[in-house]
Amino acid sequence: MSRLAAVRLSHFLPSVLLLGGALLAGSLVQLNDFFTALFNVLPTLLLLLGGTFCLVYGRQRELFLLLVLYGAYYVLDTQLDHYRAQGQVRADAALVFHLSSLLLPLLYGLYALWQERTHLVQDLVARAAVLLAVAALSVALAERYPEALTQWLVTIRWPSLHGQWMSLVQLAYPLFALALLGMLVQYLRTPRPLHAAQILGLCGVLWMLPKIFLLPFALHVVSSLVMLMLVAAVAHEAYQMAFRDELTGLPGRRALNERLQRLGRSYVIAMADVDHFKKFNDTHGHDVGDQVLRVVAAQLRKVGGGGRAYRYGGEEFTLVFPGRTLEQCLPYLEQVRQAIQDYPLQLRDKHSRPQDDLQGRQKRAGSGASQVSVTISIGVAERGEARQPEAVIKAADKALYSAKSAGRNCVRSQGQGRGAVRIRH
Ligand code: GH3
Ligand code: MG
Ligand code: MG
Repeated sequence: MSRLAAVRLSHFLPSVLLLGGALLAGSLVQLNDFFTALFNVLPTLLLLLGGTFCLVYGRQRELFLLLVLYGAYYVLDTQLDHYRAQGQVRADAALVFHLSSLLLPLLYGLYALWQERTHLVQDLVARAAVLLAVAALSVALAERYPEALTQWLVTIRWPSLHGQWMSLVQLAYPLFALALLGMLVQYLRTPRPLHAAQILGLCGVLWMLPKIFLLPFALHVVSSLVMLMLVAAVAHEAYQMAFRDELTGLPGRRALNERLQRLGRSYVIAMADVDHFKKFNDTHGHDVGDQVLRVVAAQLRKVGGGGRAYRYGGEEFTLVFPGRTLEQCLPYLEQVRQAIQDYPLQLRDKHSRPQDDLQGRQKRAGSGASQVSVTISIGVAERGEARQPEAVIKAADKALYSAKSAGRNCVRSQGQGRGAVRIRH
């Protein structure tokens, strides 16, 4: 399955909403006392809460992204406080601002792309060392050679590329572009909520920087919400880890148990099991077995009739149809069974060619690659006399058992006689 298929709008949605809120609230020229006070403490609060959370759960990458954002917020806020109190900027304002707009995309990009290593402490020490070294070097240079450094920062290196709209030093733009590009590639290679949040977070920073002296709340609001975006993405991933099955991408057993507690007065539960999967695993290896599970899951996910697929465990799946009767669901189950049977599964392993004929439906192509067809059996039950979902699952399991003993690759419902079995070969 291609990685692009794993790109999800849901990875971006929470961050898009927070970014929208940040741009909206950051553009305001007036905020009431409550929100002014809130945004004054929010970055610090988020660093403490989010930072502790990341530290405890070994999410060093996000911890350092929070530190970089907070560091820039703190330095720029000091400048802003002076500007507000005195009515004019501090003598070193230009140097601090330009240096921040250079270091922010540099460090943010670096930490966002820096993959976590297995040794937690080593990883933390390496990241901290880089942060300290860059900070110490910048402070030393800024104190020792303030004019030369400012001059170096504001130099227009590529006049033909310079635009009037550029309100940051020219060097900052390629750094932002590089960081964004790197993070985009990272997201496309490994689509996950955190990688999406990192991209949108830097977009927020790019929007905010030129406006911090122009809009009174831009710095506080955007810094807060970008930090919140990262913390929310960490929480989002933690939720996914708990409720989603990693191999197939379907919601897992825990999610199913939650769903079962919220079912109404009528519903249908189907249990699906891959036929002869053990033999398949033994013949082609576990990698191919995993590939089969992904294909089956992708088909089950598409089931119609308002059904939702869960990975129950191993090669067993559960389909839940809330508010439906057994009669209504049967055509959809039959459809999904057929779709799996018809799916042309191309085996990648050329060495472990199939030794058995897997129910006589295995074909060999001339090239050496082989095509097999996988089938599933389904047992289905509805909420009737059995009032507890666990009892309905048990009934569906029983029906699945009779589907297996009736020859597999068929749908059987609870209490169905042998004569009604549909077997396709
Ligand atoms: P039946 O048609 O009666 O269902 O036979 P079966 O071989 O499919 O049933 P059985 O329950 O004996 O075998 C299930 C196998 O599924 C055993 C286990 O090795 C394999 N399995 C369970 N989880 C995974 C997984 O995540 N990946 C892979 N590759 N194999 C798995
Ligand atoms: Mg099984
Ligand atoms: Mg099986």
